Amino acid sequence: MRKIDELRFGTAGIPISTEEPADTAKGIRQVRKLGLDVMELEFVRNINVSAEKAPLIKKTSQEEDILLTCHGQYFVNLASLEKAKAEATIKRMLDAARRAHECGVWSIAWHAAFFQGRPKEKVYEIVKKNMGHVVKTLHNKGIKDIWIRTETTGKESQWGDLPECIRLAQDIEGVLPCVDFAHLHARNGINNTTVEFRRMLEDIEKGLGKEALHNMHIHMSGVNYGPKGERNHLILKASDMNYRDLLKVWKEFKIKGIVINESPNIEGDALLMQKFYSSL
Ligand SMILES: [Zn+2]
Repeated sequence: MRKIDELRFGTAGIPISTEEPADTAKGIRQVRKLGLDVMELEFVRNINVSAEKAPLIKKTSQEEDILLTCHGQYFVNLASLEKAKAEATIKRMLDAARRAHECGVWSIAWHAAFFQGRPKEKVYEIVKKNMGHVVKTLHNKGIKDIWIRTETTGKESQWGDLPECIRLAQDIEGVLPCVDFAHLHARNGINNTTVEFRRMLEDIEKGLGKEALHNMHIHMSGVNYGPKGERNHLILKASDMNYRDLLKVWKEFKIKGIVINESPNIEGDALLMQKFYSSL
């Protein structure tokens, strides 16, 4: 797995300021022009880079020194009650991971599953079994140099709080959490203070060691939430997300890896965080 020697900031998808007609390669060049260092490919609705285009995307990212990450499909549920849907999920994840790998992606993340009224332990076992199958299949095909991640989710109905994501990473080699701090905050309005931010990073280190803190895949945004959790993303300054203290804690723990901004102004808040982080 490629080593990253700092904390890099970037956009969830092609920057808004990219010249029209925008495409992925242009987006990568625009990320460089903006002075950011990462772009996340958004495979959320479909795999939007073709097999023919993948080598060009890889080459462009290397030329521009832009690290690529990927957000996998929204329509996945590793623990679906319907067998056909669970199987379709595995296929979708394999297809996305393969294409992402062809693009030179460093890390790919999904919201992995839903509880659908079942006990947490039961769902955990199903997620573990099916995710294990995904990773093993990729490894057997020689696809090893890409982190496979489950993202911390923003609703109680979704599998994937931080302890669950840490536990899965302990159980499956090659898997790590993607930590969405806005989602963790949206779950109930907590997780927004220095003490809590420190505890989260301590839990990651305790559970997964320094390797995890040195290979972080982070999602950030402002967030609007209610009793059921996440409602929608906001720009940081329009939200109560305590990003200043969070970034101070990142600095304190000397984490390495990447931060993808998912606020509606994708490059705006990425630059805001990058600037604030480098001022610390
Ligand atoms: Zn996400």
